[in-house]
Amino acid sequence: MAPWDWPALSAAYAREEFAVDADALRPYFELDRVLTEGVFAAATALYGLTFAERPELARHLYRPGIRVFEVTGEDGAGVGLFVADLFARPTKSGGAWMHTVRDMADALGERPVVFTTMNVPAPAAGRPALLTLDEATTLFHEFGHALHGLLARGEYASLTGTNVPRDVVEFPSQVNEVWLREPSLLAAYARHVESGEPLPAGTLERLEAADLWGEGHRTVEYLGAALVDWAWHSLTEETVDAATADPAAFERRVLTEAGIDPDLVPPRYGTGYFKHIFGGGYAAGYYSYVWAEVLDADAVEWFREHGGMTRENGRRFADELLSRGDTRDLLESYRAFRGRDAELEPLLRRRGLADAAA
Ligand SMILES: [Zn+2]
Repeated sequence: MAPWDWPALSAAYAREEFAVDADALRPYFELDRVLTEGVFAAATALYGLTFAERPELARHLYRPGIRVFEVTGEDGAGVGLFVADLFARPTKSGGAWMHTVRDMADALGERPVVFTTMNVPAPAAGRPALLTLDEATTLFHEFGHALHGLLARGEYASLTGTNVPRDVVEFPSQVNEVWLREPSLLAAYARHVESGEPLPAGTLERLEAADLWGEGHRTVEYLGAALVDWAWHSLTEETVDAATADPAAFERRVLTEAGIDPDLVPPRYGTGYFKHIFGGGYAAGYYSYVWAEVLDADAVEWFREHGGMTRENGRRFADELLSRGDTRDLLESYRAFRGRDAELEPLLRRRGLADAAA
């Protein structure tokens, strides 16, 4: 067995061992219900936000089928506009993302206008749009970015909302993913589109067990790539010539010195095709993904310790983190929210790499 056999063998093992059929879940994730009774309901419970659809505004947008919601705080004050452009169409860029057409800026009296864009296949006329579990997770994720933009406070647009350093911008969105699995919410929004039955008990737990399969391998190949990125961007005048004379040998030395055997677990991206770090804007920043997840897992543990999806918890997260944007160092904001620096153990436990009972 060679390293490149791993993905196929691992997938074959998982199919047999866990027998999960993610497609069979789609009837339980009807888009409109996931959005209003899942994503929006979580934002109401945590942040006191309410959402009123404004079809007369949507008429002015670039395509039909895009929905506009006016977002209001529990004090009745306008928070901003949320625009959902969720269906795929020809010429639309692939993937899913959040963007703002206007950022929060008190100095100008401006409120945010925030878009969530996805590429859900449009259903046939008269049929409901059904999401995969991955797409439902993405909707919660992208809405986490939207909340970061909507709950922003500050004078200047350049410092509010998601205008934060790259290595923390994914943190609030990843935290928001956790509410997808909140039992009370799940019981309300994840209902079979025809029978109305709730998701069969234990379904998500089985999927989670399947997801953990291969986590050690995934973590090591990712960290290998992050280490190689750092090594290339830490070269000095004295070391650059030797490294560039034989890039493959340099990469191998970096990994071996970190205790990774590249013959067993090659880095997710090798130096020769690591586009992220040589032209994709992630120079010395490939670690961002896992760092955001360290913060995310540690923050989610705080929510669990304090009773989960409550208004009090949401208020604290919004006051100390979401609303601050880049007006305060994020680690300072994190400390104010958490009462201490982030710890690594919650992420290790989430990934099944440390004992759950630690
Ligand atoms: Zn994101």
